[in-house]
Amino acid sequence: MTAGEDERLLPVIDDPDTAGHWAAAARGEVAVRTCHDCGTVLHMPRAHCFSCGGDDTFWRTVPGRARLYSWTVVEHQVHPAYPVPYTAVIVELEEPGGVRLGGYLPGRPELRADQPMRVRFENLGDGTVLPQWEPVPGEES
Ligand SMILES: [Zn+2]
Repeated sequence: MTAGEDERLLPVIDDPDTAGHWAAAARGEVAVRTCHDCGTVLHMPRAHCFSCGGDDTFWRTVPGRARLYSWTVVEHQVHPAYPVPYTAVIVELEEPGGVRLGGYLPGRPELRADQPMRVRFENLGDGTVLPQWEPVPGEES
């Protein structure tokens, strides 16, 4: 299938290493791959633990709370399905720390480094659900 000019670019949701992340999003959850033997969070997700060498991993549900790590406002349109301006964000999960995920916000919202962010699930209607991140209303620090 060839994507039309106005179709969003979609993640591969059935990849063996990352499918659990997308399946969790479809349930309205954020999940990170974790080593069952030593507890190491495997991000980017992978089948084998880079800490202990084990291959017994699972998808651990974590709170959908994060802090804004970085962002950029995109002003130059490069794809018809992504009208400008929009803001690409990188957040770091509050728990477990060190896990950074990307997201998208429409427009040019007022943002501040380290501000609290919460997950919002964007259902694209074809079985794909994207975890997106938005500022927590009323929480400035
Ligand atoms: Zn391990």
